[in-house]
Amino acid sequence: MKISKLFESKKAVYSFEIFPPKVNDDISKIYSTLESIRDIAPDYVSVTYSAGGSKNSRTAEIADLLKNRYGMEPLAHLTCVNSTRKEVEEAIEKLNLIGVENILALRGDRIEGQDKGEFNYASDLIPVIKRLSNADIGAACYPEGHPESKNMVEDIRNLKKKVDLGVTHLNTQLFFDNDVFLNFMDKVRLAGIDVPIQAGIMPLVKKSQFGGIVRMTGAGIPTKIARMYARFADDPQSLEDAGVAYATDQIIDLLSAGVQGIHLYIMNNARVARRITENIKPILDRINGEDRS
Ligand code: FAD
Repeated sequence: MKISKLFESKKAVYSFEIFPPKVNDDISKIYSTLESIRDIAPDYVSVTYSAGGSKNSRTAEIADLLKNRYGMEPLAHLTCVNSTRKEVEEAIEKLNLIGVENILALRGDRIEGQDKGEFNYASDLIPVIKRLSNADIGAACYPEGHPESKNMVEDIRNLKKKVDLGVTHLNTQLFFDNDVFLNFMDKVRLAGIDVPIQAGIMPLVKKSQFGGIVRMTGAGIPTKIARMYARFADDPQSLEDAGVAYATDQIIDLLSAGVQGIHLYIMNNARVARRITENIKPILDRINGEDRS
């Protein structure tokens, strides 16, 4: 199913992001994660592509498993900045063969020292996908501004270019302060960007996340999270409990504010995804008119 159809039928779409195993890893290692995710039943599952610049992504393989073995809807990420036009076209054709109906068009992070290639921005990729595929095209947006952009005005102008090229929904970078997201929403709506926007939430449940991925995104860290880390960094179970509680609270507040969707960066941790889903599901189901109790 196309994600645009999900947004037509639901007030709040709920999805997960996972990453594929490394090229030389045994693919069956991810089966149990995919089975657990199927039981949790998000509306769709997005699969990252070449994160860190590697070209050997198994995104299509995982999208195929999701769609054709586990019966879930995949959103296949596709980056362009480190690829040739031919490589990008081949990647799209591969997704077409699998029957993928949703692609997230991304620039990707430039490999340091690498010469400029055939693609500079996600907006260079969108027309290529449109030409070769019938899939819905999503794109990324940044409530705190993309780290490379001079200011928010410029970043939102560039975001509008992507949407005007035919993007049907946006997924945000992770953030921990809902007011930042809500201010961003006001600005993008004023700029005339009217496609559905899903809020990206990453539960901080592991010590390693604080130094790695979170620092990379440049997301602001609220005092509450800094306190959580200071107290529980070396107590893994308490850190997970506190991280699940924080993400739950953040999501319920966003649902209260009328967000159109939540995209959970689950880092392949189905246990944490299940814990959060159990906390929010009663409210989510009532919002979507699916409460059968
Ligand atoms: P763009 O939209 O191209 O924007 C990049 C920068 O260029 C911004 O500063 C923007 O303001 C500016 N810009 C855009 N268009 C123009 C223009 N026409 N002229 C001048 N300036 C312009 N990375 C991966 O490697 N794999 C993944 O699977 C992946 N998934 C992601 C999923 C989400 C939801 C998000 C938020 C990010 C993801 N990333 C992923 C990271 C992403 O690739 C990086 O953040 C990258 O630096 C920017 O990608 P983009 O598509 O947002 O770029």
